[in-house]
Amino acid sequence: MLHHERLRPPSHDYPADEWNVVEKAFHPELLAQLETMLALGNGYLCIRGCPEEGGPNSENGTFINGFYETWPIIYGEEAYGFARTGQTICNVTDCKVIKLFVDDEPFWLPHAHLLNYDRRLNMKAGTLDREIVWETPSGKQVSIISRRLVSFVNRHVAAISYRVTILNAQAFVVISSEMTADERGTRSKEDDPRLAKAHPGRVLHQRSTHSKDRRIVLCHSTERSRFVLACATDHAIESACPHSYKVAHSGDSGQVAFTIEARPSCSIQLTKFMAYHASQTDSPEQICSRAGWTMDRVVSQGFQNLLASQEQYMDDFWRRSDVRIKDVREDRTKRSTAEIQQAIRFNLFHILQASACAEDRGVPAKGLTGQAYEGHYFWDTEIYLLPFLTYTSPRIARNLLAFRYKMLPQARARAKELGHRGAMFPWRTISGEEASAYYAAGTAQYHINADIIYALRKYVQATGDESFLRDYGAEMLVETARLWADLGFYSDAKGDRFCINGVTGPDEYNAVVNNNAYTNLMARENLRYAAHVVESMRKTEPDAYNTLVHKTALEPSEVTAWIRAAENMYVPYDEKLEIIPQDDSFLDREPWDFQNTPRERYPLLLFYHPLNIYRKRVIKQADVLLAMFLLGDAFPTEAKKRNFDFYDPLTTGDSSLSSCVEAIVAAQTGDMDKAIRYGMAALLMDLADVGGNVRDGCHIASMGGTWMMLTYGFGGMRDSDGMLSFWPRRAPEENAILRFPLVYRGQMLESWNRPGHRGV
Ligand code: BGC
Repeated sequence: MLHHERLRPPSHDYPADEWNVVEKAFHPELLAQLETMLALGNGYLCIRGCPEEGGPNSENGTFINGFYETWPIIYGEEAYGFARTGQTICNVTDCKVIKLFVDDEPFWLPHAHLLNYDRRLNMKAGTLDREIVWETPSGKQVSIISRRLVSFVNRHVAAISYRVTILNAQAFVVISSEMTADERGTRSKEDDPRLAKAHPGRVLHQRSTHSKDRRIVLCHSTERSRFVLACATDHAIESACPHSYKVAHSGDSGQVAFTIEARPSCSIQLTKFMAYHASQTDSPEQICSRAGWTMDRVVSQGFQNLLASQEQYMDDFWRRSDVRIKDVREDRTKRSTAEIQQAIRFNLFHILQASACAEDRGVPAKGLTGQAYEGHYFWDTEIYLLPFLTYTSPRIARNLLAFRYKMLPQARARAKELGHRGAMFPWRTISGEEASAYYAAGTAQYHINADIIYALRKYVQATGDESFLRDYGAEMLVETARLWADLGFYSDAKGDRFCINGVTGPDEYNAVVNNNAYTNLMARENLRYAAHVVESMRKTEPDAYNTLVHKTALEPSEVTAWIRAAENMYVPYDEKLEIIPQDDSFLDREPWDFQNTPRERYPLLLFYHPLNIYRKRVIKQADVLLAMFLLGDAFPTEAKKRNFDFYDPLTTGDSSLSSCVEAIVAAQTGDMDKAIRYGMAALLMDLADVGGNVRDGCHIASMGGTWMMLTYGFGGMRDSDGMLSFWPRRAPEENAILRFPLVYRGQMLESWNRPGHRGV
């Protein structure tokens, strides 16, 4: 049985185009959604895809990864150990604004008479391109061609090339390039926990403003988190038409207004350069100087050089990462190769935009395309994104794991606060401190520890980066294994097996349960890997082992305890149904009345009190099935099939993290109908707005899950214990050939899979 939106094949109206997402007409009602989809970012900086001149219903947003403000979390009823400090990513200074006036008539999309409109996310070049012909009320035809980029090579830099030509007349033209720090666009709704909290007052406080020639620098700081932000814009103008400019600025805004006496067909080429620098440690003066240096450099390089480096970066990315699909004939879902290829690339492109320059930072659940989930980092990164990054951009994967390592001090402190030994990584965070205000679906998700270790192991196996394991990973292993050893206990009631009680698994519709199967299975892997790594270090790298013992005060008896806990780990099993129950009491719960749940009451979390949900047998997202995919070798296909058949009808897919996993398990167990149906829901999650909330940001985990679905699910890739093998099922469409590159231990492989054939 399928529920709500997954019943309908997802669809959208963007023309099938392998390299572009094209908007052919201006639709104000789609603006907010398109702002997410057409956002440009590099993992450090992101600018939502708002038109330069603004728009109605706009959810304008510019975000810097890790730039947040804090606020005290106020609980109606307090309890010990609750997270105290909320963290919300800030909507920073908007530097991209360019307003156009022709004979004093403002160009304003909703009112403009457009003779041509074409806006496209160009995924080959890494740019947002727009071509418009506007006819003013007096009949003057104005061509506006713009190209925007957020640089992958200079992570602090963005630029817009903006060319205006009056085609059939002369006119007085004003192009007003502006910057403003007014935090428009924060969307919050009391009863939607997925959205960000709106700060009651101002977040960005003025520090200084200055200008020189056509350059303006605005400097702000946050009050509680003590970040400093400097934003600079500079301009170059080329035109044979007479022109002049004026500069104005106040604390929160800046404007360079160019006045041009435009002649027919004589183009006006404006280039706007933007630089963003932020720091929690340096002074405003230092940060402003950095913004100035960046500006000096990019202005002297010019837009064409920036563009060339962007294109080169993109070529390299696609060479390493593109998943290609070929020879698709029409089948029952009536999708063309170009449509599927476009969707695949759209997902991969956004992952790149969310992660490429995320140095010393994580990847927020929405990337940087929106403020929902407050810009927080979750397990999404380790379980859903890191497989793709590990096999295509191992350097980025390493950076993200190193960032987790840097959180160890806070994770140790948090474990201590909760009365545990070892380290407890935060369920959601930016700073490293737990920011989840709802512990039942937050802090209780202890599995995040094991998820991080799972990603670490996969990274080390695929890259052979033993030095990372020795220098950082081993310490994380000791502290996480310690936590499991401390959290669990040997239960008489379960025949002296090692049990872990009072946790929440990935499925947030069953909270604070005993022996969540996913948690226990993943904790077992964590314990085993920790014991294995520590033991082999002791034998083969005594110096490194001694350093580790010194750093962690490790006792040899601890390793023995980890091995014992792993070997005795309790994993629920139901003999009659021959399935793994999700937790100890899952099978006792009353079935959810799916028959009488109208489609509009999904996602359930927005319409039912948590208690109504928790006491019923209903699932938000893949849990046991996720474990069966991640630890695939431990389960025979028949077991996967039995569990799939049992859990699929109970799974709402209310989380976007579910469809991709279900598609993989369906493909692995030969249920190709469901594999394709769920696969399409995952593939088109954002492009077709499957969950109805794309306006709030892209679903980055689902995007990573899409890659896993293509490679592990349809491509039949297996990588347990460092052995790479392929057992292709069928590509997402009949008669399709799926081709994807992988970086494995420093070598680039290409897998070319046709059903029934195996090959690398
Ligand atoms: C999911 C979590 C996920 C979070 C952020 C929630 O809806 O249940 O598993 O980590 O979204 O994507």
